[in-house]
Amino acid sequence: MAAHPEVSVEFFPPKNAAGRERLLAAMAALEPVRPAYASVTYGAGGSTRERTLATVQMVQQKSRFEPVPHLTCIGSTEEGVRELLGYYRDWGIRRIVALRGDLPEGMENPGFFRHASDLVAYVQAFGGFEILVSAYPEVHPEASSAITDLDYLVAKVGAGASALITQYFYNPDAYLHLRDALARRGINVPITVGVMPFVSYEQISRFSVQCGAEVPRYLRMAMEACAGDTAAQWQTGVEILSRQCQLLLREGVPGLHFYTLNQAETTLAIWRNLSI
Ligand SMILES: Cc1cc2nc3c(=O)[nH]c(=O)nc-3n(C[C@H](O)[C@H](O)[C@H](O)COP(=O)(O)OP(=O)(O)OC[C@H]3O[C@@H](n4cnc5c(N)ncnc54)[C@H](O)[C@@H]3O)c2cc1C
Repeated sequence: MAAHPEVSVEFFPPKNAAGRERLLAAMAALEPVRPAYASVTYGAGGSTRERTLATVQMVQQKSRFEPVPHLTCIGSTEEGVRELLGYYRDWGIRRIVALRGDLPEGMENPGFFRHASDLVAYVQAFGGFEILVSAYPEVHPEASSAITDLDYLVAKVGAGASALITQYFYNPDAYLHLRDALARRGINVPITVGVMPFVSYEQISRFSVQCGAEVPRYLRMAMEACAGDTAAQWQTGVEILSRQCQLLLREGVPGLHFYTLNQAETTLAIWRNLSI
């Protein structure tokens, strides 16, 4: 196990007052985890710009967590990105998750930036932020090959990224394969594991088709075995994810990043099983 594996959490910007209350409750419940940071997602094409800014401020003002904004660049103008970086610098933000994002339906112009590496280079030149980027152990769904996907990941590090957060996966070998492939390319930045709590097969299979993560047959079968029993499905998901995290911690992963979906319960249950 890494000497001090880091736990971090991800929130999305709530849409309304009820969602805001739910997020505040989740933040309070997650206090015992003492996350190293709380990242806040950003809708591609700027669709959540104002709500992401408000959520970053909410994390800063209402919790003890370090807010880490995501920033997607596809469909953005240079001025828009520069303005956001200016706000974040003024607010004392230290780290940014720099992403390409997906062009929203109906939006045709990709804008000033084409790839996440373009944004990384821009943020690096702007100065003052540690830059985190995405990595895909099971290969990004649009990638022409696993090799080019790795090349572009290496390019993001070359452009200034100093840490990676993975897309979620339910196949730990995929993570180890990526880690070793990067090490062979001389890349030794921390590769934090993205953990997506698995609470229902329907929910996760919907997500997974879009983002290229595979749901192994044993997991599907385990969920089907308790179909109709929400509590049993939840418990099964927690057990399977806890075992995956334990296995990866024994492999020395530097951190776990929980995609909380603005709910504390599942993240807390897995975290309690890990003794970190
Ligand atoms: C940790 C994490 C956080 C995320 N947060 C958000 C979020 O807040 N908001 C959101 O909308 N989405 C988010 N996403 C999803 C992400 O936006 C999508 O997966 C998107 O499709 C790719 O973004 P990226 O930054 O990974 O892209 P990139 O790293 O640019 O890669 C995207 C694709 O382009 C290819 N590529 C990269 N560089 C080049 C190049 N120079 N030339 C040709 N091809 C290239 C890659 O191989 C890959 O197939 C997140 C994903 C992860 C893993």
